[in-house]
Amino acid sequence: MNKINIAIDGAAATGKSTLAKRLAKALDYIYIDTGAMFRAITFFGLEQHPKGEINVPLLVASLSEISIHFEETPSGQRTFLNGVDVTQALRNPEINAKVSAVAVLPEIRSFLLDIQQQLGEDKGVVMDGRDIGTVVFPKAECKFFLTASPEIRARRRFNEQLADGIDESYEAVLQNVKARDHQDSTRAIAPLTKAVDALEIDVSDLSIEAVFQVMTHHISEKGWTKQ
Ligand code: C5P
Repeated sequence: MNKINIAIDGAAATGKSTLAKRLAKALDYIYIDTGAMFRAITFFGLEQHPKGEINVPLLVASLSEISIHFEETPSGQRTFLNGVDVTQALRNPEINAKVSAVAVLPEIRSFLLDIQQQLGEDKGVVMDGRDIGTVVFPKAECKFFLTASPEIRARRRFNEQLADGIDESYEAVLQNVKARDHQDSTRAIAPLTKAVDALEIDVSDLSIEAVFQVMTHHISEKGWTKQ
């Protein structure tokens, strides 16, 4: 059976990337973290302007100078911006605070859309983000949409950040989660929304393992098996 594309969308800290990575590993597919792409562009924009602000016209004019790629390493997938490993830096609270404002810009969405669609051209991709099932791969064979309350997601992100040595209060994390939810779901282009044919999973009371089981069951129910 031919390979398929799998789209996983949902709000921040619903476990999309953990699940997408696990699925990709189980199926021997390529995992693409589109959030990391928007984060890398935000990082580039912040580096261009030393005062912690992004000069939008300058950033948009510089898109042709930006190259993003992923590499698999023994410590997991790493994100490279113009050849430099920026994986860790992309998780900083400053990037969290700015990324959704960058993600509303049509030029940036269209720049990344081309790259994302090319990556999925040959199928065999698990891609996570906000608009994968609706805009990037509207014809993806399998789509998931993950939900959970902002408080549960913020607690999860807070614990992850703590383990990574990032010092930010739970309240600040919750505020950022809510602000990004609002910006991501109310923007004009490619807002965060469930594709009509996506399977919605409320992950609030489910372990990662349990969600993974629901996903693999759904994939095999649709008749897709590992190559
Ligand atoms: O998934 P992650 O939290 O890393 O995404 C960071 C931000 O990038 C999101 O809050 C959203 O603003 C933007 N994004 C997007 N479309 C995607 C993936 C991420 O707008 N497909």
